[in-house]
Amino acid sequence: TMEFTDRLTRVEPSATLAVSALATELEADGADVVDLSVGEPDFPTPETVVEAGKAAMDAGHTGYTTSAGILELREAISEKLADDGLDHGPEEIIVTPGAKQALYEIVQALIADGDEVTLLDPAWVSYEAMVEMAGGSLSRVDLSEHDFRLEPALEDLADAVSDDTELLIVNSPSNPTGAVYSDAALEGVRDLAVEHDVTVISDEIYKEITYGVEPTSLGTLEGMADRTITVNGFSKAYSMTGWRLGYFAGPEALIDQAGKLHSHSVSSAVNFVQHAGIEALENTDDAVAEMVEAFEDRRDLVVSLLEEEGVDVAVPDGAFYMMLPVEEDDQAWCENALEDTHVATVPGSAFGTPGYARISYAASEDRLREGIERLADGGYL
Ligand code: PLP
Repeated sequence: TMEFTDRLTRVEPSATLAVSALATELEADGADVVDLSVGEPDFPTPETVVEAGKAAMDAGHTGYTTSAGILELREAISEKLADDGLDHGPEEIIVTPGAKQALYEIVQALIADGDEVTLLDPAWVSYEAMVEMAGGSLSRVDLSEHDFRLEPALEDLADAVSDDTELLIVNSPSNPTGAVYSDAALEGVRDLAVEHDVTVISDEIYKEITYGVEPTSLGTLEGMADRTITVNGFSKAYSMTGWRLGYFAGPEALIDQAGKLHSHSVSSAVNFVQHAGIEALENTDDAVAEMVEAFEDRRDLVVSLLEEEGVDVAVPDGAFYMMLPVEEDDQAWCENALEDTHVATVPGSAFGTPGYARISYAASEDRLREGIERLADGGYL
């Protein structure tokens, strides 16, 4: 018989899977499920990006690339980061098959048995699993008491972070709350990171999807350049989830270490996908602006529909999620709502914050209306 490693047996399968398995089952039985559980844009990849991918294949870009990614793409990423105020040359960048792989490699490079990692809850589901697989332990700061804002929780963060803290993960705009952390909040993070010599991952995968606010990149703050690793990717801003393309940028020493894991595991991101990535970075401003505008309209729609039902939510400034306050047993709420009304959402406990359900508004206005109406009619709002 096979014996499995602790590093995997101690990890739970994603709690979002229970809901999506049930949704799939219902759909197979012919139900019309309004799926508000998905973490991906519902738009096609911009046409010019698809064309660039096809052209790259036709041009024979189908072999291995340098492990860190083709220089042309890393140069384009370097320029994109410079626009965000970050100074990373191509030698400080690794291109990965998705931001998820980037995060995995960074955590593997930095976290060993017993190392402490601080998360801001609710936090994206995979951070916890990545830390656990690396043998690290978690300290968590709950932002739900503060409408998911970080600034009023800085004292709690100060309690959670100590000289024993190795790593802090910050995700702004946030999945699942849509919160964009203020400059004052980020400065508070900086002060603690410097005081306790903590490395910080800034997961900026939703940075391009915001509504009237400009998120600051943590690595631009004084004292943060040497201790920040910036992660970003193409899945969300360019609607490229299935292409699997992301990257991270940080101090060269980190790049050297994580680069070993990268080269011995994935080798590189897909060659022609990297070529498409250049097009995405350089020529899609209008397409991205159009998608962001649509997300903003949908956010406004859902917030006002919920308001009409007497439900107040923390209005998100970015990404395409919001947290709906539900009963304490959020897992049961989500399962019951799905079974009764065929509306799929994700329980907040999957993100470390029970009592909420995450709604993704990456769906058409018709479907959003339909979903909220069904939840209201079913007595779930
Ligand atoms: N980080 C956050 C906060 C996310 O929500 C996601 C996707 O859901 C990722 C990283 C990973 O994205 P990808 O691996 O598709 O680039």
